[in-house]
Amino acid sequence: MKKIGIIGAGLGGLTAGALLSQKGYEVEVFEKEGLVGGRALTLDGNDLTLQEYKNILHRFDMWMPYSKPSLEEIFEKNMLDGYRLDLGFHLLGYARDVSLTKILNEEGIEPDYSYSKFGVISPKGEVIQDFNNSLRLRDKLRLLPLLVRFSFRTDAMISKTEKTPISETIDKYCGGLIKDALGTSARFISTVNDLDKISTAEVLEVLRRWGGEAEPTGYPRDGSGTLAEGLAEIIKKNGGKVNLGREVDKILIDGGEAKGVIVDGEEKKLDIVISNLPVQDLFEIAPEEHFPDAYVDKLVNLKGSGSVCAYYALEHLDEDVLRKPIAFREKNLGVDGDHASGIIDFQTVKPEMNMSPEGEYLVQAYIICTPEEAKDKGTVRKLIKALDKNMEILVPGFRDDLKFAIYPTIYHLDGVAKTIDNEKPTSNTPVKDLYMVGDCIKSFGIGMNCAVDSAVQLSEQL
Ligand SMILES: Cc1cc2nc3c(=O)[nH]c(=O)nc-3n(C[C@H](O)[C@H](O)[C@H](O)COP(=O)(O)OP(=O)(O)OC[C@H]3O[C@@H](n4cnc5c(N)ncnc54)[C@H](O)[C@@H]3O)c2cc1C
Repeated sequence: MKKIGIIGAGLGGLTAGALLSQKGYEVEVFEKEGLVGGRALTLDGNDLTLQEYKNILHRFDMWMPYSKPSLEEIFEKNMLDGYRLDLGFHLLGYARDVSLTKILNEEGIEPDYSYSKFGVISPKGEVIQDFNNSLRLRDKLRLLPLLVRFSFRTDAMISKTEKTPISETIDKYCGGLIKDALGTSARFISTVNDLDKISTAEVLEVLRRWGGEAEPTGYPRDGSGTLAEGLAEIIKKNGGKVNLGREVDKILIDGGEAKGVIVDGEEKKLDIVISNLPVQDLFEIAPEEHFPDAYVDKLVNLKGSGSVCAYYALEHLDEDVLRKPIAFREKNLGVDGDHASGIIDFQTVKPEMNMSPEGEYLVQAYIICTPEEAKDKGTVRKLIKALDKNMEILVPGFRDDLKFAIYPTIYHLDGVAKTIDNEKPTSNTPVKDLYMVGDCIKSFGIGMNCAVDSAVQLSEQL
């Protein structure tokens, strides 16, 4: 049976490993970190040192612009004991139905999700508990013809709507709260604030597939890293290997074909090599001379997306506080697209989610920005203020009960942002037997869903 080497134990790499090991391939995964999950990993606050935390943030294109108290004090006083932290805010879109859940369920692994509807902070600062049900029928009916036409879409309509900015579609078909709602959904669907850059086809496709879903998000008990652990279990069950702390130095290519990898100076012969690296980093281990110049140029210039995250650890929280994600939009921030959307998620405060010590509460939040904005101190400060302002609306006086607040900031949230001008590559590369998976690859959805679905597509092809 053919030997497949997978570089990276992110959700893309692990899904490919799980599905291909099920097909009978001999699978070996090489991961440079000491744990699985990649950007969707979960850190155990009990075991973490300040230096390890700083290192891991750095290795995943992140930084900590601000925290309260200082990170040094948080670690000196062991304030993270009993907490679990993802690298930053995570929610799985349409968790009930997505490929990731199905793959795990088919192998008898049942992630213990908290499913939820969205609430929203209206432009007037009111908290609307049930976003979908607060939309007016009249406004829904105005949008309906477009959704119906899209359901029976022709190739011509798809290619037209692919290049049509969602801002144009909103102006044409939306009124009332739907106008606001579609703008906000489009931002979450793409992790981009500028509606002029978001493709109408992308947004409509997500709405078409998931329009009726009552609880469109999920968060797994013990953190998003458990999803990766489930996939790694499947690989091992099928006789595959998941090697941690093993960095691939080079992909061996000869005569236009991938032949293996070099790991820790050791040569491994392989029939197929699958890279789970962000595509912009591929040529750090795959020598550029084996690829056409135009291909290299295209990949290294693709842009990701960013965000400022927040973790608020509270020593008190009223029992009747919302136990769901609440979306907000902050106007006139002067960022790309001017307005910025974000979510403050209270699912992680539920004691059964196991994210914080007993009697303490972890709230996770994020606000979307571009990679450049995530690196700019002044913009990050404005975005932190916006997060705190909306947190104050939801939990008035939260600062009085704050144990700590940290703001991990990422300038590579989505490998490649889903914008009209940023076309993702497919899994196939110009080198024979070298493939790519992950959230940089053209497939359905964004983030974790995109990473997983890219691997589903590849495993169907191999
Ligand atoms: C702060 C933050 C918030 C996010 N929020 C959400 C969200 O709410 N919802 C959502 O769906 N998505 C979210 N995402 C995005 C989501 O985490 C990613 O899209 C997804 O996890 C990417 O998976 P991947 O398989 O493409 O790659 P990665 O997770 O990046 O995996 C690549 C792996 O390759 C390893 N690697 C790299 N180089 C080598 C080498 N030379 N040798 C061996 N191993 C190597 C890396 O260590 C890593 O483990 C968020 C991401 C971040 C960082």
